[in-house]
Amino acid sequence: MARHAIVTGASRGIGRAIATGLARRGYDLALTDIAAQEKVLLETVAEVGKLGGRCIPVLGDVSDIGDCRRAVAEAVQGLGHVDVLVNNAGILRLATIDELTTDTWDQTFAVNTRGVFQMTQAVVPHMKERKYGRIVNIASLAARTGGPGQSHYAASKSAVVGFTRVSSMEFGGYGITVNAVCPGIIVTEMGMNNLRDPERVAYFEKVTDLHRLGQPEDVVGPVAFFASDDSAFVTGQALNVDGGIFYS
Ligand code: NAP
Repeated sequence: MARHAIVTGASRGIGRAIATGLARRGYDLALTDIAAQEKVLLETVAEVGKLGGRCIPVLGDVSDIGDCRRAVAEAVQGLGHVDVLVNNAGILRLATIDELTTDTWDQTFAVNTRGVFQMTQAVVPHMKERKYGRIVNIASLAARTGGPGQSHYAASKSAVVGFTRVSSMEFGGYGITVNAVCPGIIVTEMGMNNLRDPERVAYFEKVTDLHRLGQPEDVVGPVAFFASDDSAFVTGQALNVDGGIFYS
């Protein structure tokens, strides 16, 4: 039986790469994004759908609990069942603590942290019923060591790592594993907004053991591992996928 996955925030960047990688591994997919991204999402769905499996679009904002419930219901209805949830949707709005507004703090947590909770809560009853599930949360290296201007982002992603650990405890008895991936600097719109200065790019290439920035495809293998049965006895973990960054 084909395996089925939901990937949130999948129209571009790391989410799109994960969708493509899972499709190549034989998954049927439900890809989500916000309504404002509908055109790009539909293009991604069409491209990923060419790889063989079924691929359906589901519009929804992960910060809205109603959207999360509807997205999961549409995915279950469209695919038949869901084995895997990849909580990838996220935002980064740079601001130092001096200039950070409460709105930006709340918006960051609403998407990056509450979104993970809400999508998890929406999908888990279905996974419990099937006594099987794989949840993969895309956290960030910022959860270990964020940079200036990322206090709210680092806090939101640290919370995802904590949420991952407790989800693992609460759902392990139902055959559901929950793990997190912590990407380092990945070349996407978000990653490069964070690194507008070429000197910062050169700095990160220098302090990364592999002496390069990451590509979205670099995140796919670890996500596919946590999504698969190769990781059946691995849960509650957070894996850095950062090329070996050493901050001095
Ligand atoms: P990206 O290129 O900005 O893509 C993020 C996707 O999520 C976009 O399609 C975005 O739509 C969507 N999204 C935003 N808010 C959403 C919401 N409320 N509901 C549903 N979808 C939403 O970012 P990325 O670099 O691929 O990042 C993907 C994940 O990896 C994020 O969780 C990010 O925090 C994490 N990450 C990235 C890096 C990096 O260096 N790139 C490093 C560590 C962790 P819009 O285009 O409308 O915003």
